[in-house]
Amino acid sequence: MANPYTKPTIAIDMDHVMADTGAYLCDWLNDRFSTSLEGESFSTLLATLPDEQRAPLYDLVEHGGLMRELPLMDGCMEAMRALAEDFELIICTAAMEFPNCIPPKIDWLREHFGWIDEKDWVFCGHKQVMGTDYLIDDSPKHFDGFSGQGLLFTAAHNRGETRFPRADDWSGVLDWFSAQPR
Ligand SMILES: [Mg+2]
Repeated sequence: MANPYTKPTIAIDMDHVMADTGAYLCDWLNDRFSTSLEGESFSTLLATLPDEQRAPLYDLVEHGGLMRELPLMDGCMEAMRALAEDFELIICTAAMEFPNCIPPKIDWLREHFGWIDEKDWVFCGHKQVMGTDYLIDDSPKHFDGFSGQGLLFTAAHNRGETRFPRADDWSGVLDWFSAQPR
């Protein structure tokens, strides 16, 4: 079969990059527990919340009820459409820790990103398996051993990370790619 990719490839993470998972989770908790959390990641929340808040949050994710409701990250749609002019976009989400999230993630992608070929939606474990030229992700752990170039998408949990180039938002992603040599 011929190589389906004619342009450089970018793998793009879903949670905290395409979807504003941090905002949704914190709003969900704030509504129920009168907390004032903001933008925290699921892993940070699991590590820091008291048991009575952690258990229902874990249930929400474990049973797959989370992903279908997530808001798009600001500017994501417009930026991805712009990137698609010059790059092949491959959606890449680490899904095996919470496999019940896979069907709602597919529904979410069909609603918002039906314009990207479903063969380019990858539900994986380690993202190091990806052979793309670039990976946009909020979790720096995926960049160690990744053969392409990682671009860190800023989130509350990665502000101390200095090893990789970063973009603070989707407009920053476009700026970073426009500065790359072609
Ligand atoms: Mg993520």
